[in-house]
Amino acid sequence: MPIHEKSLIRPENLRTNDNLVIEGMDVSGHWSTFIEGRSITDYNENLQDEIAALPGGENIHRCWQCGSCTNACTVNAINPEFNPRYWIYLIRLGMEDELLRDKDIIWQCVSCNKCTYACPRDVAPEGVMKATAHWLELKGHTPKSPSMIFDEGFSSQVFETGKIEDSLVLRNFLKDTGQPLRQPWLESMILGLIKRFPVFYLIRLGLMQVFRPKTKGWGRARKAIEEYVHEVEAANRKALGLKEGAE
Ligand code: SF4
Ligand code: SF4
Repeated sequence: MPIHEKSLIRPENLRTNDNLVIEGMDVSGHWSTFIEGRSITDYNENLQDEIAALPGGENIHRCWQCGSCTNACTVNAINPEFNPRYWIYLIRLGMEDELLRDKDIIWQCVSCNKCTYACPRDVAPEGVMKATAHWLELKGHTPKSPSMIFDEGFSSQVFETGKIEDSLVLRNFLKDTGQPLRQPWLESMILGLIKRFPVFYLIRLGLMQVFRPKTKGWGRARKAIEEYVHEVEAANRKALGLKEGAE
């Protein structure tokens, strides 16, 4: 799986000669561009298996590097360094150190799934991006991403009550990510709601904030879900060679 994209070669590995004549031919400047040789000895031979063991990463082995995911990617259109195809390439080769150089942008996937629709091999690159971001967190390379914090808050509310209270999810998310509760966009959204919705609906919303209704008979379902989540989390940690309860 060779890479031919110059944009993916680190600038420090590119060499050009300002003045170079070979056999009478002037090859100065970019005509004499060379790629510096390098030896990589510290492969993580389990990297692909580790990503494949996490939810979303299961089909990474199917990738044939066509690049359709990157071509369709919403974030790549704004930031060319966000490159799902390239990261899948690194993971499949076990080039962990190279992957870690981009650890601060991988989580920026917005889950639009354009890549998933474009992929001819059913890799589900969006899932691979999620699994990779999760892997970075579990291995301690990055802090919990905002999307992971949101997912956890959302899920824990479902587990607890069997229902979703949107405003509580949002409030907890802002609190857990250290953001002020007063946000201009939120205030204008609430004003819009007040104008558009009948009063009894707004009163009901307010009461739900106070009484937090639960789904009837939810206790047994909650216990089963919690056991399942615990099993999956333990399996994820085991696949990554982490101890039980390790972060
Ligand atoms: S889901 Fe993520 S990786 Fe896929 S196209 Fe959207 S932003 Fe890009
Ligand atoms: S579109 Fe699918 S097969 Fe093509 S590079 Fe992306 S993940 Fe791999």
